[in-house]
Amino acid sequence: MHYKKDNIITSAKNAPDSSVLIIYTGGTLGMVHDSSGALIPFDFASILDHVPSLRLLELNLTVIAFENPIDSSDITPTDWIEVGHIIKENYDDFDGFVVLHGTDTMAFTASAMSFMLENLQKPVIFTGAQLPISSLRSDARENLITALEIASGRGGTVVPEVCVYFDYVLLRGNRSKKVESLHFDAFESENYPVLAESGVVINYNQAVIHKPEGDIPLVFHESFDNNVAILKLYPGISRKAVEAVFGIEGLRGVIMETFGSGNAPTVSWFKEVLEDARNKGIVIVNVSQCPGGRVLQGRYGTSKQLEALNVIEGADLTLEAALSKLMMILGEEEDFKVIRKRFIEPICGELSLN
Ligand code: ASP
Repeated sequence: MHYKKDNIITSAKNAPDSSVLIIYTGGTLGMVHDSSGALIPFDFASILDHVPSLRLLELNLTVIAFENPIDSSDITPTDWIEVGHIIKENYDDFDGFVVLHGTDTMAFTASAMSFMLENLQKPVIFTGAQLPISSLRSDARENLITALEIASGRGGTVVPEVCVYFDYVLLRGNRSKKVESLHFDAFESENYPVLAESGVVINYNQAVIHKPEGDIPLVFHESFDNNVAILKLYPGISRKAVEAVFGIEGLRGVIMETFGSGNAPTVSWFKEVLEDARNKGIVIVNVSQCPGGRVLQGRYGTSKQLEALNVIEGADLTLEAALSKLMMILGEEEDFKVIRKRFIEPICGELSLN
């Protein structure tokens, strides 16, 4: 992926002391209608024409835009790594970062980014919009301006986390989930409190914001193995369907989306297929289809069997966090015991131990 850094904008008149890097990857926020009415990305260098009020923000803003902005449905781990590299290379020069990203897969990228940027000490705020910035009723302006304000750390509150800011709430990125495709309140974080709410003032929930321990250097992880699959269980799922997933050539890991607190069918063929997968060394993680609550393997007979099959308990992880975490750990490790150990330990607040 190529990106342009030539379109630097400085919106402040009098050398302010806060500087934010905006990374524009694509998505609805930066789109305009073409003559046929279809939404296409606009040249992000002209952002000031669309949001003149950015001039009033008194921040030093720099924009790096993907040369070919993409709809987030086209995002791959290669793009995660690209965004991570941009942050790593510019880490010392900015107080914070705002990543403009399509909402559809924002929770995946934000989760992946939280694992890539270990020991993060600066805000990385993802945002986007449900309506393009060119549209009169767009939510883009508020999302962008408040995300910039939060990323700047001005006013003394620094949120040293990868977050999603959307529709007046700031969420931990690896706890967030897109839950709405039409209304403006597109994101939720069912298993973790909001980090801040924006109204007349931005109210930070200090008690739940991660505090870094000392001045530890950033550790960058950039190896993701996408030889993984998601298996969503449903009543009536057939042996053929389950075998087809576990039979994928080169498969190393499966996120199994189970029922309720981690329950799965007890029919004997299901156990046999999972046993076979375990013997082939495929790592299986149990996450729940419920957005709230947690997996408790062994609570019901229908999940107890999974323990014996070496299925890893996904606790209260979102699907997005579980998938990107598994990809990263598989990118770095071979040994099952190490993979399991790293998976069940929280890296940056993505799961609660109990
Ligand atoms: N399809 C768009 C995307 O995710 C939707 C959005 O930006 O909100 O890129």
